[in-house]
Amino acid sequence: MQVSAQKVVYIHYTLTGENGEVIDSSEGQEPLAYIHGHGNIIPGLENALSGKTAGEKIQVTIPPEQAYGDRDEDLIQSVPIEAFHGVDEILPGMQFHTETPDGVQLVTVVNINGNEVILDGNHPMSGLTLNFDVEVTDVRDATEEELNHGHVHGPGGHHH
Ligand code: ZN
Repeated sequence: MQVSAQKVVYIHYTLTGENGEVIDSSEGQEPLAYIHGHGNIIPGLENALSGKTAGEKIQVTIPPEQAYGDRDEDLIQSVPIEAFHGVDEILPGMQFHTETPDGVQLVTVVNINGNEVILDGNHPMSGLTLNFDVEVTDVRDATEEELNHGHVHGPGGHHH
């Protein structure tokens, strides 16, 4: 069975950055399961997997515009430290979820400048060219329930 829209695809993957450093990997875990054609994974990877079958391996280099987008310097903002009441200590690299008009956004603490905390709302992988080594381990039809929910049920997917 080929990878195409509405199929559940199981992949093992290793993601490396521009200098070959491993950013993420499914090694030692269940394969990642996603529904093809639903935007569950980045567009560049979804495109590269189209038409593949179980057992195929691919290597693909994905530019930022096909991955997590370019960095947007407007997403760097300064917030008074009082906004973090309840947090014992603010340190660079800490991540928080904030409510915005566009929904929940993940922000990363870049720096603390006196009573101001500098936050970066860019996706941590924005601006990066990503290299994927991927093996397709299985392809199957999605169930009607999975299509309604927009995600995979069972191992490698959501459990409910
Ligand atoms: Zn569900």
